[in-house]
Amino acid sequence: MFRTWRDVLGGGWTPSPATLLLWLAVCTVSTSAALWAGARVTDDVIAKRERAIASDVVVAITRMMGVVETHGRRRMDGLIGQSCAAIGDALTERQSYIPYLRAAATVADGVAYCSSTRGSIRVPLSWYFGKSFEKGGTAAGGRRIALVGRTPFRDAAPTLVLFEPTDPSDASRGILYLIEGVYVVDALAHGQGFGAGVVALTVGNASIYQDGTFQDGPFREGPAPPGYGTRATSARFPITVAAVADPGFVAATSRKYGLMFGAIGLLAGLLLLTIFLIVAAPRRLLLQAVRQGLKRDQFFVVYQPIVSVRTRQRVGVEALLRWRHPRWGMIPPGSYIETVESTPLIADITRFVMRRVVEDVERYRPAMPMHIAVNVPPLNLRRRGFEAEAAALQARMPDGAALVLEITERHLLADRGQAMEAFDRLRRAGIRLSVDDFGTRNSNLDLIRSFPFDYLKIDSQFTQSVDDDAKALLASIVAMAHHFRLVVVAEGIETEAQHALLAEIGVDCAQGYLYQRPASAEAVLGAGGAAHAEQDAEPALTVH
Ligand code: C2E
Ligand code: MG
Ligand code: MG
Repeated sequence: MFRTWRDVLGGGWTPSPATLLLWLAVCTVSTSAALWAGARVTDDVIAKRERAIASDVVVAITRMMGVVETHGRRRMDGLIGQSCAAIGDALTERQSYIPYLRAAATVADGVAYCSSTRGSIRVPLSWYFGKSFEKGGTAAGGRRIALVGRTPFRDAAPTLVLFEPTDPSDASRGILYLIEGVYVVDALAHGQGFGAGVVALTVGNASIYQDGTFQDGPFREGPAPPGYGTRATSARFPITVAAVADPGFVAATSRKYGLMFGAIGLLAGLLLLTIFLIVAAPRRLLLQAVRQGLKRDQFFVVYQPIVSVRTRQRVGVEALLRWRHPRWGMIPPGSYIETVESTPLIADITRFVMRRVVEDVERYRPAMPMHIAVNVPPLNLRRRGFEAEAAALQARMPDGAALVLEITERHLLADRGQAMEAFDRLRRAGIRLSVDDFGTRNSNLDLIRSFPFDYLKIDSQFTQSVDDDAKALLASIVAMAHHFRLVVVAEGIETEAQHALLAEIGVDCAQGYLYQRPASAEAVLGAGGAAHAEQDAEPALTVH
């Protein structure tokens, strides 16, 4: 019925408040989920950046110390052990070839005794490294490293001190290198350009920061956002570099990913909802069209006789809904009734059919006794006021006319107690009950065992064939129905062969094109109904 996009959206559709609320909810959920994902990505990006900066700086400082060590080994060989007067000039000259150094000194008996810048000195190694070397770290090969804020000869001069023993087993002789702290600070400050707020080098128990501040203690957390910060160590020297993201970088990163993911979430929400609306639109529009159809008198009721199999005399009729749409023409109930039955709108449909039935009976006064069947889904039975309405309509029926409610649906079994009470009240009001489409997924054995039905309508799929199998199946259904004292009506009878089979098995009543197609009230209920029937009968409609 809705063939194109234009059919779906071109009908001047305006979303209901419920749809808008749903829309809002889905967008909120998907946007929040995306923002959460954005926050996770932000953390990840920042942590990665901190790791990259810390390990970059570690590489730079390790390289710096490595250069000093390698050059030192090459240049300083053979100086230790000789007096300062003998080696002073050579020491000064050779030190000038080694990058990053402020000074170098020869060490014997654990005392630095000759400096490249000051000549003869006397500074024990413990001044730099502490008695138990708690200030510095010990590296492989007997090397010692320390970070000091001043030297015996200069205040406020952060220095990275490296002692290289001549013999790894004798830590009292060797060369002491004093690496200029400014180079270290330069390396640390480099990380700032990449989003680090604090970068610090810690050696033993002393730290130096990217702004040149020296601290006699381990790295202290700077004014960083909580949860951030990372450390990296060198595999070659006992040094640790800490990097903590700058709050500005953190804010910019979370803004960037927050916006990016927020937009993705919002788009995803909108997309989901658009898909939902496209999928749900035909149903919504269908219900809207039915509602309008009822208002604009597009619906009407036709009747199909139900005959006694033995006499072929009419014993009842089934009222069937018809919809003539001004644009789409005749629409068979099979294409919309299931959708309508799942909504409260079915109450209006059933009310319309029942009222029309009573009006038609009052108007045409058909020969009695007669049963007039109306299709009613269980949702209707549960609706408040339905029973009273049905009873009032039954009361308006002439003597001999009984309203029969044809019910499908296994959901009846869900609230058995309530349904049973409703059944009892309806039957006391003179209304009869019928299981429709017996044998299909909606109406089964459990239903007829549990509820006091009067009629059982066998679905047309069981009456189509006339072979032995079909006969056996039909016979067992009939036997079982009779056991429960139900009157059996066979649906969809189109041929004499089918009729003969029903007669042979003992089916009570039948309904089908063989006897009469559904036709107008006048044709079926009016005087000489059977005579009019042929000319008024509708062409076959699809049964779904
Ligand atoms: P149903 O209650 O089982 O109605 C019998 C269907 O079989 C009707 O289709 C009828 O036209 C069709 N039929 C009758 N004899 C023959 C035959 O010999 N051969 C074939 N092939 N079909 C035959 P219809 O009118 O299209 O209705 C289809 C279904 O729609 C109904 O099945 C019923 O479940 C539902 N329906 C119809 N009117 C109403 C209504 O007023 N309210 C509700 N809730 N459902 C209705
Ligand atoms: Mg029916
Ligand atoms: Mg049926």
